[in-house]
Amino acid sequence: MKIIDGKLVSAKIKEELAVEVEKLAKHGIVPGLAVVIVGDDPASRTYVNSKESNAKKLGFYSVKHQLDETVTEDELLDLIENMNADPQIHGILVQLPLPDHIDSKKVLNSISVLKDVDGFHPENIGKMIIGDDAFLPCTPNGVMKLLEYENIDLRGKHAVIIGRSNIVGKPMATLLLEKDATVTVCHSKTQDLLKITNCADIIVAAVGIPNFVTAEMVKEGAIVIDVGINRVNGKLVGDVDFESVKDKASRITPVPGGVGPMTIAMLMYNTVESAKRKGGLI
Ligand code: NAD
Repeated sequence: MKIIDGKLVSAKIKEELAVEVEKLAKHGIVPGLAVVIVGDDPASRTYVNSKESNAKKLGFYSVKHQLDETVTEDELLDLIENMNADPQIHGILVQLPLPDHIDSKKVLNSISVLKDVDGFHPENIGKMIIGDDAFLPCTPNGVMKLLEYENIDLRGKHAVIIGRSNIVGKPMATLLLEKDATVTVCHSKTQDLLKITNCADIIVAAVGIPNFVTAEMVKEGAIVIDVGINRVNGKLVGDVDFESVKDKASRITPVPGGVGPMTIAMLMYNTVESAKRKGGLI
């Protein structure tokens, strides 16, 4: 069994990005990332702080808008409109979840397609599905990069994704399909999950239930990618029962240190891409 080291791969990607940032500087361009957080959910705050510090370390122009829980939808939409027009900002990210009185879909759709570095805008999603150039959603794209760095040939492989969310499961299926994998998407209504996962060459777990994937669900030698981030007794735990599954899998991602750091690296990647596009460099 080999542990797929997301920390290492994300560090390599960031090293490559630092070189790109230097090249951009020669053209007078500094990648700009704006992050918006509403309320003070501790998990969201951790994610946002990590995004901000990564952006700063890479030499980006980084802005954080910490808004009160009581902010109105119109105020949030106004802020996004201003950032859409701000030439210093190449990427806009609104941390989810938003409070119930705000329509998340409306907010995400208001972000300029050209600055949608999370890859959540319907136009980017549509482009991704037809294989056009688009900002790809960071978590599933981070998984693809991990598989690429591991030199895993996906052609004809059976990939089973557990979870069908718009931000992980569905785009994951699209990206794996694009690389010629045979993809099965499972979800809470799936029958006989055990039988399906046991046919998988690759399992991607994005369920949100701690230790959901157990050894009996995994075929000997399968590759297991754990997207889950769950907090149990103050500890981060994935959707895969790492201890039991590691002896059956040929490769497995840990939590923490697997997919998580890749998500951030891909966000930085998208922001640099956006800055390059804006500068007419790609
Ligand atoms: P979600 O709650 O939107 O979706 C969960 C999915 O799991 C649903 O499609 C549901 O049908 C499926 N599911 C639930 N119970 C199931 C069951 N018993 N059998 C089969 N399928 C079942 O969650 P999400 O936003 O996709 O996130 C999934 C996990 O990934 C969470 O732990 C989340 O914290 C984590 N996550 C991590 C990153 C990262 O950067 N690593 C990014 C996004 C989400």
